[in-house]
Amino acid sequence: MFSDELEKISWDETTQKIMNKTDNDVRRALSKERLSVDDFMALISPAAEPYLEVMAQLSQKYTMERFGKTISMFIPLYITNSCTNSCVYCGFHISNPMPRTILTEEEIENEYKAIKKLGPFENILLVTGENPAVAGEKYIARAVEIARKYFSNIKIEVMPLSVEGYKYIADQGMNGVICFQETYNKKNYNIYHPRGMKSKFDWRVNGFDRMGQAGVHSIGMGVLIGLEDWRTDVTMMAYHLRYLQKNYWQTKYSVNFPRMRPSENDGFQPNVIMTDKELAQLTFAYRIFDHDVDISFSTREPAYIRDNMATLGVTTMSAESKTEPGGYFSYPQTLEQFHVSDERTATEVEAALKKLGREPVWKDWDDIFN
Ligand code: SF4
Repeated sequence: MFSDELEKISWDETTQKIMNKTDNDVRRALSKERLSVDDFMALISPAAEPYLEVMAQLSQKYTMERFGKTISMFIPLYITNSCTNSCVYCGFHISNPMPRTILTEEEIENEYKAIKKLGPFENILLVTGENPAVAGEKYIARAVEIARKYFSNIKIEVMPLSVEGYKYIADQGMNGVICFQETYNKKNYNIYHPRGMKSKFDWRVNGFDRMGQAGVHSIGMGVLIGLEDWRTDVTMMAYHLRYLQKNYWQTKYSVNFPRMRPSENDGFQPNVIMTDKELAQLTFAYRIFDHDVDISFSTREPAYIRDNMATLGVTTMSAESKTEPGGYFSYPQTLEQFHVSDERTATEVEAALKKLGREPVWKDWDDIFN
């Protein structure tokens, strides 16, 4: 299990290692075809900042070789905001006395139909809060089963499940799971996740092993930028990625690193702000580190960043996302989980990508290559 591997890696020493990387380390990393995590550290370090242009060119080259000009489009659907966790940065946390929605089967189907009117989406991501008692495996499996009528690729972003749980939902047609570890800093993890199942760090981080053991076809990993030192967090994710690739080599992997925005009200304020330049550096570094990994940018990022990065390393994007349950049809006015920055319609995103010479595709990579 990855929790055992993580025990062997010191957070503080990793931070120090990254900050000590030199110009020579960066040059060495850039000259390699196959990079180690140590090389990755060099590329995300401050020492690599003068090499941004070189990194952008390499990232573009590798992306073109592996993915061509295509950007795979997906759309998320929140089916419930009911949650028993207390993540301090999320409006859906259990202590918020907001009304909770658990979409009925009929409402879920109405959402699917409404999404189909927005664009020819074939990839859907079903998202839930974490409340297994009222929206557990059976509920999620049923949503997946209904989705099969409308979409060819169905992913879920739900509470970590057992191996059997993942297998059960995969049997209904789910072919991918996305899970955010949020942060790999075990010492501080419970500051952000004080109660509920999500407070169990090892259960969450080992969920990826369980996905692999269940034979989940595609695994998405993510850290939330804004909690802990971003360079150390994404390095831990790089270790995790390499570990999973070694142990579950038939699975496809994607990485996400959404940035938390400063809150305009009295909500949680990020501890760390990542600049646009640093986001670009990180994206290039991931592509140079792993030519095959799918790099996903959601609508949390503003349109200008998404458009720029679409030509330089990003391979999957959401569009016209609503982050409230039933947001496309049933309950468009309920509380969002987070506010999207890119508010363009799917059609507008498609037009912008085409103008940039990209080919937005509405299917999954497997369909494209088949
Ligand atoms: S981030 Fe997810 S698990 Fe945490 S409170 Fe929000 S919906 Fe619940």
